[in-house]
Amino acid sequence: MKLNRQDCIVLDAQDQLAAYREKFSLPESEIYLDGNSLGAMPAHLPARMQQAIAGEWGQGLIRSWNDAGWIDLPQRVAAKVARLIGADADEVMVGDSTSVNLFKALASALRLNQGRKVILTERGNFPTDLYIAQGIAELFDAEIRYVDSDEAAVLAALDEDVAVLMLTHVNYRSGRIYDMKKITALAHAAGALCIWDLAHSAGAVHVDLNAAKADMAVGCGYKYLNGGPGAPAFVFVANRHIEDVRQPLSGWHGHARPFEFVQRYQPAAGISRMQCGTPPLLSMLALDAALDVFDGLDMPQLRAKSQALGDLFIRLVDEKLADFSFGIASPRDKELRGSHVALTHAQGYAIVQALIARGITGDFRMPDILRFGFAPLYVRFVDIYDTVEAIAEIMKNQEWNQDKFLTRKAVT
Ligand SMILES: *Cc1c(COP(=O)(O)O)cnc(C)c1O
Repeated sequence: MKLNRQDCIVLDAQDQLAAYREKFSLPESEIYLDGNSLGAMPAHLPARMQQAIAGEWGQGLIRSWNDAGWIDLPQRVAAKVARLIGADADEVMVGDSTSVNLFKALASALRLNQGRKVILTERGNFPTDLYIAQGIAELFDAEIRYVDSDEAAVLAALDEDVAVLMLTHVNYRSGRIYDMKKITALAHAAGALCIWDLAHSAGAVHVDLNAAKADMAVGCGYKYLNGGPGAPAFVFVANRHIEDVRQPLSGWHGHARPFEFVQRYQPAAGISRMQCGTPPLLSMLALDAALDVFDGLDMPQLRAKSQALGDLFIRLVDEKLADFSFGIASPRDKELRGSHVALTHAQGYAIVQALIARGITGDFRMPDILRFGFAPLYVRFVDIYDTVEAIAEIMKNQEWNQDKFLTRKAVT
């Protein structure tokens, strides 16, 4: 039996997370399926930022480092992130970007695993992960071993030369999820450390770093965590490693006693040593406030909704787009899929532009991927229905085939 729009409205009415949408401020009638690239703005943020800027900065000035608690804000934000990724509060540091944190983690891992020189990763990893690994390899005289994005290929490449296995949990293109626990255990058996990139996991996909015995992890603050453009990222180091970790960006905020202004660097005792310099406080305050949306939220329930949205999308694509030569680049099995679904089409870029013109925002990734992110806190089942209907119309009347949609913009 085919689903109709009314069926989707009923699904929304039964959705126990439906009320969370009210906590976000989205443009009227916008269907936003790009929360995996830039999360939507929590509705309470403008007031919080107004207070932070006019009050804490404008009136409190430098006193706010103490009086408004700015100095230990990164630790408080880290505790909120830790809960979402199955880590202890003192295993997570929030600050810098994902790229910078990956640099620190990779360097630390190579130093922990002295004598081994190979960084193992997948060719299809997110480019910044590959670029950072390439920079690290040059600096440490290490070697990168690239394999296909496939569990068997990864496992086959683990040998006694591999110092660190660096993988992204949810692939940014296909949305395919790796079995973190299994792969980490096999990497450990081969004597390698594991770094997981949680950019497309944190805040949408259930993650339990400590259950998987992960060594290190990094992730993004501006995707499903909704911290705002360029929000601080996070880095996780398992407690069993932290005392031995020496990360090379040895800035003063990672020092044991930053305000003694001594000449020699001495790393802080715990995870604080992963800090570098002064954090971007305003962005940190925004992320801090954004994370309050997750207060009391049950992550398995969130994950179940994200899977249901993805399943609905794939079902409707099968029903309504069969005549238009789309491919589905994501796993159909919801257990193997993150919170976005990727379609392929030769005219993918123009189709995405035509959707955006209709108020439906997804994105395009080279060479032919149309990505639709289903942030479970604010995407509705009826949004999925309307999106697939809109794609069907765009294909039927060749709406995509116009110069204004075919010309590439700088940010896709
Ligand atoms: C989005 C994303 C990043 C982003 O890194 P930045 O340093 O924040 O630009 C890194 N890795 C992956 C896998 C991503 O999806």
